[in-house]
Amino acid sequence: MFERYTEKARRAIFFSRYEASQFGSSYIETEHLLLGLLRENNFLYHWIPKTNLETIRKRLDEHGTRQPSTSISVDLPLSNASKRVLKFAADEADALSHKHIGTEHLFLGLLDESGSLADKLLREAGANPERVRLDLTGSPERAEQSHGGLFQGRLSRSFALSTLEIHGIRRNAERVREAVQRCRACNWHWEKHRFTNIDIVIAKQTGKVSFDLTLAADSANFELVKGGWKKDHCFICRWELFESQDEADAAHSTGYTNGHDWVCTECYEKFWQGPDFFSSAYSDIT
Ligand SMILES: [Zn+2]
Repeated sequence: MFERYTEKARRAIFFSRYEASQFGSSYIETEHLLLGLLRENNFLYHWIPKTNLETIRKRLDEHGTRQPSTSISVDLPLSNASKRVLKFAADEADALSHKHIGTEHLFLGLLDESGSLADKLLREAGANPERVRLDLTGSPERAEQSHGGLFQGRLSRSFALSTLEIHGIRRNAERVREAVQRCRACNWHWEKHRFTNIDIVIAKQTGKVSFDLTLAADSANFELVKGGWKKDHCFICRWELFESQDEADAAHSTGYTNGHDWVCTECYEKFWQGPDFFSSAYSDIT
């Protein structure tokens, strides 16, 4: 499962297990992943300017999550939320067309698990997932400025210089083009839908999620969770889609789906509907 992980990402997971044991937790929770990441990669503070490790530890103590510490030799499992973080990190790496999964993708994965303690702490510390993605896909000049060259070697090889705008944010046009191509590769029928929470089945032993509701008949091993799948991301730009009746959330609560993946309304209208955006004018790409 960790084959794609960089050395730093592997060490961060190792540290998060240690942190979980120090907190006396039976699971590696998202907040332990966060502590593990920050121990391993100081650079991540660049994206959370309003905090430091001590402040985060203090905030965790305020949340009362600390128990007497357990032995580090116990092989603590990941909580369900942490498993989703790992899945989201892989999705983030895929969306950026990065072969490896690094601490930066895990950092984004934590922000994708909205409502988790780590997500809350990161956001109050000033983290903004759009900014992080932009830093990882922006122009090389920008990446060099913002990262002090840390990611530059890798990024400059994979960068295309042209960008285009989605949801008011500049994106790497080559990455978007690749995602649209992946979308077009399967001849799916896409339909406009409001996003509604989806029923899922969870395997009791492993905590793994399935959309095959027939598994729930085996109630000894599987549990049906009504509306357990609460959000998805645009396949092209990673925009969040979630259930909401609020008009202010309209761009988040409606998208297009092929029954499996989702595309936000903006990407659908811009890249999918009508003639192939990328084979025509390129007028939006700067
Ligand atoms: Zn989109």
